[in-house]
Amino acid sequence: MTVSMVRTHPVRWLGWLLILAAVCPAQQFAPAGAALPQTNGLEVEIRTLRERPAVKAALQHLSDQYDRVITDLVAITQIPAPSFKEQARAKFFAERLREAGLKDTHIDEEGNVVAERPGNNGEPTVMLAAHLDTVFSEGTDVRVKKKGTIYSAPGIGDDSRGLAVVLAVARAMEAVQLKTKGTVVFVGDVGEEGLSNLRGMRYLFEKSPLRKRVDLFISLEGGGDTAITNGGVASKRYRVTFRGPGGHSFGAFGLVNPAFAMASAVTRLSRIQVSHNPKTTFNVGIFGGGTSVNSIPASCWMEVDLRSESFAELGRVEEQFLAAMKEGADDENRARGTEHGAITVESRLVGDRKGGLTPASSPLVKAAVAATRVVGRVPMLNYSSTDANVPIALGIPGIAMGAGGRGDRAHSLDEWVDVDKASSLPGLERALLVTLYLAGVVE
Ligand SMILES: [Zn+2]
Repeated sequence: MTVSMVRTHPVRWLGWLLILAAVCPAQQFAPAGAALPQTNGLEVEIRTLRERPAVKAALQHLSDQYDRVITDLVAITQIPAPSFKEQARAKFFAERLREAGLKDTHIDEEGNVVAERPGNNGEPTVMLAAHLDTVFSEGTDVRVKKKGTIYSAPGIGDDSRGLAVVLAVARAMEAVQLKTKGTVVFVGDVGEEGLSNLRGMRYLFEKSPLRKRVDLFISLEGGGDTAITNGGVASKRYRVTFRGPGGHSFGAFGLVNPAFAMASAVTRLSRIQVSHNPKTTFNVGIFGGGTSVNSIPASCWMEVDLRSESFAELGRVEEQFLAAMKEGADDENRARGTEHGAITVESRLVGDRKGGLTPASSPLVKAAVAATRVVGRVPMLNYSSTDANVPIALGIPGIAMGAGGRGDRAHSLDEWVDVDKASSLPGLERALLVTLYLAGVVE
């Protein structure tokens, strides 16, 4: 998910958003919520690192081989990969990593592509990942349309760009035979979107042979080269079903109706007061039910998404949401006849993402902030719901950052990226420099 969770002042934030949204493109109206760390010393270190011959050669490779990034971006995008159906794209991604020189690339039991590049002394282990899946269903036209440097296709930014940049970093390190102290693990993971519940990441950090070995995690998520997501928004998703006896719309008029119960429940949900800071939200995303216009439905349903920057606030809104669902059913049972049966409600948890925070003062966040400054960009810390939620919730330092370049309209059919080299390269360099700084380069 590339949606940046904008952190603003609690007061009148909506007003600010409306004013700013009218004058600014989406990516620019996010004032940093957390104070940015001081990184003067680190910037000097990263600048020095950048001048070392092997690193310089790797950066040169990134620039010289930039066309390859575009080729990969297009090829990856044009292989459909809905959540749970990532196999073809995984196979392609694994082949490209092998071709780059990472012969031991494999696809794990969950479907993640994993390529380990051992370091001299094995520690730390840095994982650089991008997700294989998209929100688009099978049959979606994923052919890339080109207009100058603007390339558009569903999923091209989220997260084909991330995958292409993971490949570029791996290829540059292999091409110049760059030796690191720590191990770098390149990953193309499954199940980041929709109701997949981060299954790829959960497998890697909870079950795979790599679990407990990863010290630092970086997800390359979408485009941009300023945002660093160090906060993982926790979320819960529910499927709520209201059931009743049903009946003829005219003949059985007066009996309880699940649609009215759901309407009452939704109205109650809409009135819940949530915290603005930490930002906490609720949404009714999809709903349905019934069989014909002249029947009282026997059931209707909806899917609800609850999110918060704070786990405690999420618990609070969840409790109120569950109460609202029950009260909606009660309202209807009081309002109409229950002689053929009362309204019942079932709220089933279908998604549960833990969250948390990698502190701004952590070496990982500081390195990302410093590298952003070194490539000439202005860093910004934010909250979102990404693959980094999994390590963060386990107490392992994790971040997500953009893979470079301009782009917008993620999760829509007119998603686009700008492949222009000059504006895309700083993001690629940032990804390489952060990885190398954390893994440590051997003389
Ligand atoms: Zn994404």
